[in-house]
Amino acid sequence: MHGISRKDRRAVLVAGGSGFIGSHLADRLLQRTDLDCLVVVDNLWTGSPQNLAHLNDPRLSLEIGDAEVFTTSQRFDEIIHLASPASPCWYMSDPARTIRANVGGAFNLLGLLKPGGRFCFSSTSEVYGDPQISPQPESYRGSVDCTGPRSSYDESKRCTEALLFETQRTQGLDVRVVRLFNVYGPRTRIDDGRAISNFISQALTTGVLTVYGDGLQSRSWGYVDDIVDGLERFFWRDNISHRGPLNIGNNCEVSVLDIAKFVCSLVPGSSIVHHEPVPQDPTNRCPDLRLAKRILPGWEAATDYQEGIRRTFEWFRSQIATPAAATA
Ligand code: UDP
Repeated sequence: MHGISRKDRRAVLVAGGSGFIGSHLADRLLQRTDLDCLVVVDNLWTGSPQNLAHLNDPRLSLEIGDAEVFTTSQRFDEIIHLASPASPCWYMSDPARTIRANVGGAFNLLGLLKPGGRFCFSSTSEVYGDPQISPQPESYRGSVDCTGPRSSYDESKRCTEALLFETQRTQGLDVRVVRLFNVYGPRTRIDDGRAISNFISQALTTGVLTVYGDGLQSRSWGYVDDIVDGLERFFWRDNISHRGPLNIGNNCEVSVLDIAKFVCSLVPGSSIVHHEPVPQDPTNRCPDLRLAKRILPGWEAATDYQEGIRRTFEWFRSQIATPAAATA
């Protein structure tokens, strides 16, 4: 294939590859001419086979199952571990399952890696908790409550980072860890529950957008194409000097209320109601991207939130018009 001998082609496994980000990554992986096979492992808790339905490539196979118990005799050159819910209402609905997916998934998948293989992991800005400094560089150790309502997600991401970086230190594992900041875009579940997807779903159905608290809490919203572009540049590259975690996101910080107002502006007649604040809701979040700019020259999250939300809105509108596709 394209002059690359069979032995130089890569076997890649993506855990969580039927999910929102994973399926966008699968699209990009299948464009690689050095790809021998792509095995997607997904238990379809929050992912959907519909997210891969447009792909017709004999190199792709979907294995339905949990990342923490998946077995095969095959060994992989690259493993990308994205198997976790990311929306607070989903991960809080089954905290033990969330921890098993992240930590148990990493333990199990490490055993499927070829010697010298590469292990990529999507960690999260949640490792910074409710940050006391802004923007947050990778060196910031965070302000996290290990007994709080978000702990199944925060702490399982932190523990998996520890497992991977300690394996790197003791065994020389080729590790790539990204910390993602509030990613949104097409293929988010309609019932995902995170701010942008919830506001769009609500605007298109009930017309009433629920803002928790005063809405002055802020996030840095990253459009999925920009984020996956960053992942591709970091995960694919063979020679990379940086060995630590890397922030990937858009550093334009916008309040939840401003996001809700913008979504309202797309649907005349829609309105905002304020609900009780969410316990331990982080007040702010913004990536320091200096390292990412240095490690990934030319990469930037260039899509502004208005454009990204417009594109996401159009996708949601098409899904809500054909509900079978959205929930399959
Ligand atoms: N949020 C909100 N209404 C919603 C969903 C979320 O006001 O319908 C708020 C939420 O309280 C938080 C912010 O939006 O302050 C981002 O929430 P999201 O669940 O998208 O991400 P995370 O809290 O994990 O950063």
